[in-house]
Amino acid sequence: MRTIADYHVHSTYSRHNHGKSTIEEIVQKASALGLKEIAITDHGPGHWIYGIQWEKIRKAKEKVIKMRQKYPHMKILLGVEANILDYDGNTDITDQVLKYCDIILCGYHMGARFSSLTDGWNFTVMNKLGIKNKKIFEKMREKNTDAVVKAMNRYKINIWTHPGDKIPLDIDILAKAAEKTGTVLEINDSHNHLNAAEIKIAAKYNVRFVINSDAHIKDKIGSCEKGLKAAADAGLDLSRIINLK
Ligand SMILES: [Zn+2]
Ligand SMILES: [Zn+2]
Repeated sequence: MRTIADYHVHSTYSRHNHGKSTIEEIVQKASALGLKEIAITDHGPGHWIYGIQWEKIRKAKEKVIKMRQKYPHMKILLGVEANILDYDGNTDITDQVLKYCDIILCGYHMGARFSSLTDGWNFTVMNKLGIKNKKIFEKMREKNTDAVVKAMNRYKINIWTHPGDKIPLDIDILAKAAEKTGTVLEINDSHNHLNAAEIKIAAKYNVRFVINSDAHIKDKIGSCEKGLKAAADAGLDLSRIINLK
């Protein structure tokens, strides 16, 4: 069992040296690994530190189109890992993003440019306080989940990345929404979410999963061992993972 596609890789188009490899290096590596599909998915422009700049999305797409000519045996996608920005479920998936991107990933990131001070406070400070206070934890989990479900309903999101990483989510409710919207849930090989317990809960619904590397350097592309172990521990039918063969 191995991955034949990796839909979550960061490149040098992220700011501040976040992704270490160029698009060409990523495609080269993916091809050498025998992957059939690769998606370049830098952080959305709504990320303070790492987000791709507007004008670079077009340039990244030009590069991807060039790579398609050079590596015709591979399906090469330009995507973005967008950010949830507030509790109304708004994200940085704008018309510009949709114009150039072939695949949309979205997730929660601490460095996002939140819509308001209150949103920023709740996402970061209150969720941190919840680690030590059960009542706050439960309230925040409900609030966070509601925001993610709203985002899933508002936008066409192909993959929700590392659900439950950094902020708690009610995976049962999330998976129900993912079933309705057709959003694939990510088992992230770099972060520990979804973990085995979460996969087990999500699997009750008619959802599909993907194991992505979330590589920030080309050597990590296609890695799936940790994700595969979590899926196996959860007893997941592996045919529900869209990028395994
Ligand atoms: Zn992420
Ligand atoms: Zn990522």
